[in-house]
This record gives sequence, C-alpha cells and structure tokens, in this order.
Amino acid sequence: MYNFNSGPATLPPDVLQEAARAVVNYGDTGLSILEIPHRGALFTELLEEGNALVRELLSLNADYEVLWLQGGGRMQFSMVPMNFLGPGETAGYIDSGHWAADAIKNAAFYGNTEIIASSRNEGYRNIPRWEIIPDTLAYLHITTNNTIYGTQFFRFPETQVPLVADMSSELFSRTLDYNQFDLIYAVAQKNIGPAGVTLVVIKKSLLEKQKRELPGILSYKTIAAYNSVWNTPPVFAIYCSVLNLRRLRQTGLQAIESRNEAKARQLYEAIDGSRLFYGTAQEGDRSRMNVCFRARKPELESAFMQFAKERNITGIEGHRSVGGFRAALYNAVTPEAVTHLINVMQTFEADHTP
Ligand SMILES: *Cc1c(COP(=O)(O)O)cnc(C)c1O
Repeated sequence: MYNFNSGPATLPPDVLQEAARAVVNYGDTGLSILEIPHRGALFTELLEEGNALVRELLSLNADYEVLWLQGGGRMQFSMVPMNFLGPGETAGYIDSGHWAADAIKNAAFYGNTEIIASSRNEGYRNIPRWEIIPDTLAYLHITTNNTIYGTQFFRFPETQVPLVADMSSELFSRTLDYNQFDLIYAVAQKNIGPAGVTLVVIKKSLLEKQKRELPGILSYKTIAAYNSVWNTPPVFAIYCSVLNLRRLRQTGLQAIESRNEAKARQLYEAIDGSRLFYGTAQEGDRSRMNVCFRARKPELESAFMQFAKERNITGIEGHRSVGGFRAALYNAVTPEAVTHLINVMQTFEADHTP
C-alpha cells in the first residue's frame, strides 16, 4: 500500500520488521521488548541512545533535556501553560490552524492568552504575519507545521521570551537551528514512531521556571529529574522511535531534507500543472510535509478517492474539518510513492476532463 496518512503515519518497512522481531525476542535476550523492565539496563541503554540521537540529529547544545512523555499533543497543549504560564501572566500564541487554536483554548485555563497573529479569517491558508512580540509574555507558542491545512513556517519569530514550538508533524524532516527554541514538542505518530509517546526537548533554564506546584506526571522538571522514567514510559513506542532515529542518523538529516523537498516540489508541480486539481495553501507557506489539494469539480472528489483506493493509495482524504485531499509526505513516504500518486492523479484527470 502507498500510505499517505497524516498520523498515525507510515513507518519504514525495515523499522516495522525489526520491531516485529523484537516483540518476539528482543536482541536475543529471550524476552519480548514488551516484557523488559523500564528501569533495567536494557531499557536504560535504549533511552540513553534515544536521547543522544535526538541531540545529535537536532544539533542541540548542552542546555537541553530530552524527555519522552505520554498524552500526545493535547497533553502538551495543557502542560506548557500549566508549567510556564503563571496566574495573571500572559502567553502569546500564533494562531495558524486548528491545533494552534486548540493550544490557545487550553492555555486559557491557567492564565491570559494573547493572539499575536492569526490566519483564521483566511481559512488558515497561510502562516499569519506577526509584527511586534511583547517582551512581557510568559512565552510565545507557534505550530511550525499545520498538519490539517498544509502550511509551514520557513521563518521564525525573533523574541526575548521563551519560544515554544509544536513540531508534531515535521520534527526530523529538515535542518534548522533548533537551539532557537526553548521548548519543542512532537507527537511520535507523524514522523517519529508509533502513537503513545511525545518527544519533548526543553532548555534546562526553562525547567527552573515552573510557575505552580504540579503533580510529578505533569511537571517537566520532575520528569527531567527522573530521566523520563518517573512513571512507566511507553517502552515499545520509544523503542520503535529509536529504531527510526537510528536509521535517520544513517541517512542524515540533510539528505532526508533534500529528499523531502524534492517529493513536495514534485507533487506541488503536478498539482499546479493540473487542470482538475488545485492546491489550497498559499504559495510561499506551503508545507513540505502535508500537501492539501482539491478538485475543481467537487463532484469528482469521491470518484477520485475510489480511483486512488483501487490503485493501492490510502490516507489521502483531507481532515474532516476541511475536506478535499491531503497527502502526508513524511520521511518514510518514498519518492516512488509520490510518483505513483502523481501518475494516478494524471490518469484520473485524463479520464475525467475533456
Ligand atoms: C497531530 C497533531 C496534534 C495532536 O496530537 P494528539 O496526539 O492527537 O493529541 C497536535 N499538534 C499538531 C501539529 C499535530 O499535527
């Protein structure tokens, strides 16, 4: 199958095969990866390898802690303000889509929020342009890739306040100066591994700024102090993520970025050259990870879905809130898959346009 799902998303076949073997017998230990204790040497080694891979792939300086948490993106929408937005304080948010808006809603439980820029009135077709970022904010939160609308930040706010980035649907897809962020979070199920684990990278200096007393499970500082094993972490999800990151290290972030760029360019060119399909995101802000498009004849959309399905394409339906089509081009989506999708689109178009 050619899987273009936006999440949970496709993983490299060799990662799946190795994970499958480990479910039966992990590294010749005679134990399943599902059976090993989370405080034992085997898992401790795995976690340390994972932390080192994250640091290396993102070229992080020594100021950062790497954490593996649960609860997904939604949990981060709450944990960020719970930890870093004190009562009476104001956090800034850039409202670039559904997930960004959800993060804002959740922050309002803990303090004030200020929308620094929003593209809501444009149907989130573009990344909103920001102007002045007050330096009184507790932090500024951005969503660097908008999974549902297919827009992506290619330029980042420069600010004195801590910069928090939801990078769920793009982390490890491109090279960037990751040290410009104070906190990065990414759910695994888009571009890292299976659902069940969320990767957090946080500056040590930020950890010290926890604004209220919190149960350990909700405190970055506590979880960091326990090296992500304050509770039982999702061992299997972390294991699969480490397998994937190991593989990514062999490829190199630069190489994967070039490949991702080429895949996206090829698909956007095909869409722009089509008489039937058109892209919905504004040029210049188009995501390399999630490509959103529609048919000029809406009545043909379900026919195309069926046509694609018959040709082993899955996961191209747009998010339920926007409709149309969306193809995720995460790291594990091969250039061959993209070429196949384009061929299928072109064949359909030839059959359905005069
Ligand atoms: C998928 C996604 C989320 C939500 O993740 P859950 O784990 O389902 O809560 C949050 N932010 C972004 C950018 C996403 O793509």
